[in-house]
Amino acid sequence: MYELGDIVEMKKPHACQTNRWEIVRMGMDIKIKCIECQHIVMMPRREFDKKMKKILEKKVSD
Ligand SMILES: [Zn+2]
Repeated sequence: MYELGDIVEMKKPHACQTNRWEIVRMGMDIKIKCIECQHIVMMPRREFDKKMKKILEKKVSD
């Protein structure tokens, strides 16, 4: 399961052609930030569940 700080791949890349997004907020809505251009997208969790393809990197825990 994904969690805050994970890097995920979506079914569609961002307009900048990057497909690496960091989960920056989790709640009723989920906010993801494009790693390349820092663009932030917010969407309902249900929609995120449909659009997220896979987790690329788990958040590094210390
Ligand atoms: Zn981007």
